[in-house]
Amino acid sequence: MRYCISYYMQFTALLGGGRGLYIGDHDPTAAWKDMTWTADVDSQTLRYAISHPVLGWGGDKPVGQYKSPGDCVIGPFEGDWFDVARIYRKWAVTAPWCAKGPMYQRKDYPKWLLNLDYWACGHLGDYNDQQREFVKRDLFDFPNTATHDYGYYGQPYQHDVNVDYFPPRCGSVNYQNINQKLRARGGRVIPYVLGWMWNAGTDSYQLSGAKEKGAMLGEDRESILWAELSPSEECIAMCPASQIWRDKLTSVSMEHVKRYRTGGVYFDYFSDHMNDCHNPNHGHAVAGGDYWSRGVHELYEQVRDTVHKIDPEAMFCGEGPAEFALDVLDAQYTGTYPYDAPVWQAVYHDYTQLFGGMHWMEEGPVPVGRQWLRGHMNSVSGTWGYHKGGALPEAAQWQHDLLRCHHEFARPYLGYGQMLRPPVVTGDLPTITKKGGDGPFTVLAVEGTAWRAHDGSVGIFFFNYEDQPHQFTWKKDVAEIAGFDEATKLQLTQWTVEHGATPVEQINGGIIGGTTDVAPRGIVALKLEVVK
Ligand SMILES: [Zn+2]
Repeated sequence: MRYCISYYMQFTALLGGGRGLYIGDHDPTAAWKDMTWTADVDSQTLRYAISHPVLGWGGDKPVGQYKSPGDCVIGPFEGDWFDVARIYRKWAVTAPWCAKGPMYQRKDYPKWLLNLDYWACGHLGDYNDQQREFVKRDLFDFPNTATHDYGYYGQPYQHDVNVDYFPPRCGSVNYQNINQKLRARGGRVIPYVLGWMWNAGTDSYQLSGAKEKGAMLGEDRESILWAELSPSEECIAMCPASQIWRDKLTSVSMEHVKRYRTGGVYFDYFSDHMNDCHNPNHGHAVAGGDYWSRGVHELYEQVRDTVHKIDPEAMFCGEGPAEFALDVLDAQYTGTYPYDAPVWQAVYHDYTQLFGGMHWMEEGPVPVGRQWLRGHMNSVSGTWGYHKGGALPEAAQWQHDLLRCHHEFARPYLGYGQMLRPPVVTGDLPTITKKGGDGPFTVLAVEGTAWRAHDGSVGIFFFNYEDQPHQFTWKKDVAEIAGFDEATKLQLTQWTVEHGATPVEQINGGIIGGTTDVAPRGIVALKLEVVK
């Protein structure tokens, strides 16, 4: 397993029986690492190895000196996945990519994105596709949304046409108009851009000397690295440290934001899809170390700084969570949640937003409910866009309730709060088994999460994935991290679909909980504030 392709963060842990062993590599340069667990069945042992390919190992001269850029940390601990994440978080928030502070504090973090109601995937290539975005827009009708545009360019398979997307398929003026009309309704378009590849069949590649100036070379310094994303095309992997590629992505982004007034740009297939470049003429150390993380970070920084001069509210996002890019990307694409431990959120939820995973046809309560509960950006399934007629279909009401709760009440927690240890949920509850990317996974019918907002208040949320009502019991220690001990008098406020936010009672802190009824696909949303 390689950091940062298959590992998103620089730690691992062994867990079991309420204790574990933490192994972290706290490297502020986010350099390339190979991290491997090996099991030996005969001797009943496990081995773990981390290797650091040194910066410049592919250069003309052998590397004579090496110093680890960060601390390697190993030790036992008590607890579970959440405790592991908190150990890493303690260091991670001191890393350079967190230096601008949490999202809500940052001057360069787009306010509209901080307060986004939902994210939708769409295609703005032709008239019918464009109209579908307005159907979706009218159906849920929240003031602040984004449309991730996977179809403004010439053909449906985006990897073929990179990176010459202009003029847009529907025509320049039409694309300007559709951006403007959506923007007038509070909807921003985030167009797709392939971040790593340049199609060698394009005139722009051939005429600009892109091959010499920026194509990534393999270890033999001759073979050009390219990805067979589309079998009929040569999609050349471009070196993020080369000026020509930085300038190309900057100009594509400027065209989008300045000419078409898009809300920003999405970079696919780039942030964490690392490799080494062995071209000695690009001005970077050859292979290993922080070649990739530094090269990509500096590229994003150039794009961001240039575009922000004409639109300081433009947002940038990329595929795959890449911690080293948290200060230059505003959001990171990832899938939904077929696993029980949202470790990324426990480390970074107040520092960046995750989005995506809800493409066109998923609207089940487990993926949608888990996105909401775990503080992922809310996504609206493309299926709602095919709905005929103006009224909200009954089948969509529960998702509208989730969006409304987030909009009116839950945003400082689920949108950009610090994740707390989830409440313990018990009771006579069934489990649901679903298909996931790595095989089937099982969830309890009711799950919950807890968060600390920047004003110090605590939000606790539950969702019932089933079409039957349930009764459940929950317990949560609000003294942990949030500091609400037994001596603290707290005001409890509950949000409901019927009444919105309503004060319920005053309680003491410490371990709190209760037994609660929850409606089919229903929400329990609670807030705790210190009584002054
Ligand atoms: Zn290079």
